Amino acid sequence: MLGFAMGLGIKPFTQGLHELANGGYAWLQPDGGWGWSNAGLIVDGDVSLVADTLFDKRLTSDMLAAMKNAEYAATHSFNFLVNTHANGDHCNGNELVHGAEIIASQACLEELSAENPEMMHKLMQAAPGMGEVGEFFLHCFSAFDFEGINRTLPSRTFSGALDLLVGDKPVHLRQVGPAHTKGDVLVYVPGDKTMFTGDILFIEGHPILWAGPVSNWIDACDYMLALELETIVPGHGPITDHRGVKALQGYLIYVRDEAKKRFDAGMSVMDATLDINLIDYDSWGDAERIVINVATLYKEFANDPEPNNTTELFALMAQLHKDRRH
Ligand SMILES: [Zn+2]
Repeated sequence: MLGFAMGLGIKPFTQGLHELANGGYAWLQPDGGWGWSNAGLIVDGDVSLVADTLFDKRLTSDMLAAMKNAEYAATHSFNFLVNTHANGDHCNGNELVHGAEIIASQACLEELSAENPEMMHKLMQAAPGMGEVGEFFLHCFSAFDFEGINRTLPSRTFSGALDLLVGDKPVHLRQVGPAHTKGDVLVYVPGDKTMFTGDILFIEGHPILWAGPVSNWIDACDYMLALELETIVPGHGPITDHRGVKALQGYLIYVRDEAKKRFDAGMSVMDATLDINLIDYDSWGDAERIVINVATLYKEFANDPEPNNTTELFALMAQLHKDRRH
């Protein structure tokens, strides 16, 4: 309901499969916070494309069962699976989409190849003994089951753009990353005026600038705003339209500019994070992510090519999250 209140959601944000007015389906997972990702289904005749799987096998198998129930002819065997990017909440269920050609950007494949869901399982087992950061991991991820996930990598990759036909329906894959991650891809169905954005859009939650540069992400928003789109399914949060894209772009520009002032003034990442006024984004979830965004922006401003240290960033987020609860 918050989506309506904020004017960024155009459909009720309820768990499960939503048939889209102009074709296709969205699978939504409120509240859209850490790990609660959305996915999509595009069908034409007896051909189907799944846009992203979910964080664990149980969630993914529930989703696939609902899709088969809604569109049996197209989904008794899936034809295509697109991974919009390499985060586990968009690809940990890949092994369950039997028969599908798995497509992603080359950069996404490289990022996925460097990770293993088993690491997440071990981390969660260790979390209770890890103090503040362990508590934060449990807060974010304890609802998910990372045991026994067989990493299943994309079998077909591209860089830049790839046009597919799902039945007779054109589907355009457009790489806009590195931005949120190294290889973000948008799944665009021009005939339906529909797009599945992966985590290039978070609605009602703070986005995460894991990779940057932020300019690519701002440009991706311009690209979406120039298209005739009626239905935009974000990676997290309620279904939206151009208003959701504008809100996200506004956030990125604001945080970039505010972080730059503080970088120029010599403030530390944490001091800048605490100093930036986020009153306009009060209703957006997972506010601790601001520290990742500031840290990545600082690296950009300093021309520092070293990737972020994820462990350090989780420690900073844990600290912020704890401070904000007290
Ligand atoms: Zn995600």
